[in-house]
Amino acid sequence: MSRFTPLRALKTSQLKTPKLPPKVRAKMAQGMGKLRRFALTTIQEKYIARMQKLRQGACKRCGLCCKLFFECPFLQNIADGNSRCRIHGRKPDNCSFFPIDERDLQDRDSLGALVPCGFSFRKA
Ligand code: SF4
Repeated sequence: MSRFTPLRALKTSQLKTPKLPPKVRAKMAQGMGKLRRFALTTIQEKYIARMQKLRQGACKRCGLCCKLFFECPFLQNIADGNSRCRIHGRKPDNCSFFPIDERDLQDRDSLGALVPCGFSFRKA
């Protein structure tokens, strides 16, 4: 009997990815999006600058981007139905630059948004 090793398991497909419920997969995708934005704003400044030039529109203060993966504790829902960030002037870059690109808009729309984000991207 051969000994189990992770590399052998990958080669022989002994490691099967379990079929996860759609809600769990959606959460995982949102978490990956957060990691992706953190990585991009940390080490991909040129990409961020290029995408910022293609970004158009303005924030509608729906607050949905602050609910990806978990609801941000600094998100404040206000009486008029909009939301605000309690640390707006000091928020991290991955929040300030949202949406960085179309993938972020897709992540945001996966929350079941009824109205689109105020931002969109021109074609390069
Ligand atoms: S999802 Fe878009 S419109 Fe809504 S708060 Fe975030 S950036 Fe603004």
